[in-house]
Amino acid sequence: MRQNMVIANWKLNGGTELIAEFANQWDSLTANNVQVVVCPPAVYLAAAQAHPSLVLGAQSCSAYQEGAYTGELSAAMLHEVGARYVLVGHSERRAMFGETDEVVANKIAAAQQANLVPVLCVGETAEQRSAGFTAKIILQQLEQGLLQADLTRLVIAYEPVWAIGTGETASPAQAQEIHALIRNWVAQQDKGVAAKIPLLYGGSVKPENAAELFQQQDIDGGLIGGASLDVEQFKAICTAAQEI
Ligand code: PEP
Repeated sequence: MRQNMVIANWKLNGGTELIAEFANQWDSLTANNVQVVVCPPAVYLAAAQAHPSLVLGAQSCSAYQEGAYTGELSAAMLHEVGARYVLVGHSERRAMFGETDEVVANKIAAAQQANLVPVLCVGETAEQRSAGFTAKIILQQLEQGLLQADLTRLVIAYEPVWAIGTGETASPAQAQEIHALIRNWVAQQDKGVAAKIPLLYGGSVKPENAAELFQQQDIDGGLIGGASLDVEQFKAICTAAQEI
């Protein structure tokens, strides 16, 4: 039995008011055993702990545990202020902050060492897709990003770069094809893990397209950016995940 899951990635948005709104609606967001995780900007994690029902995640963590790394936040620090999950390898960080597969692998190791569950984000650009390299890129991101990982404590999100924040969504068939590729890759490492690991789709998920995406065989829920800033839209997406 796989865990259905929906993760809210607020990016550089939101704050204490939105956290309170989520806390008020938490029971309806999480009905039917959907695991809902909220990733606010890290400075709000400690305040979010005042709402004990919320399950929290961070949007990134350092690959380092301590030292002269100005501006970084270690996985252990994030765990101490309430994070239980952490996004790693989000395409915005790969593109804007130089997060290579090697850095991703180190961050995943650091996260697991601190008892955070990493959510590895993988995805191809529009150029890579049109050149026919989608599968190659995804497999490379999995192989290199998960070199040191414990696959039993992991979530993977397929997020085509061309679909993130663009309003353009992968078709259910396109998304399913890559989720099946990812699950097969995990099965080659460990069949038991492949049967259980949550695989999420991300990229312009909205209330109107969530149900069809989540009904695909290998899609267990979503990683939601823009639509997670509106609690009513996010609730509709969580409801679609409750019906998987
Ligand atoms: C994301 O940032 O992970 C994401 C999927 O964003 P959006 O839902 O806005 O496309």
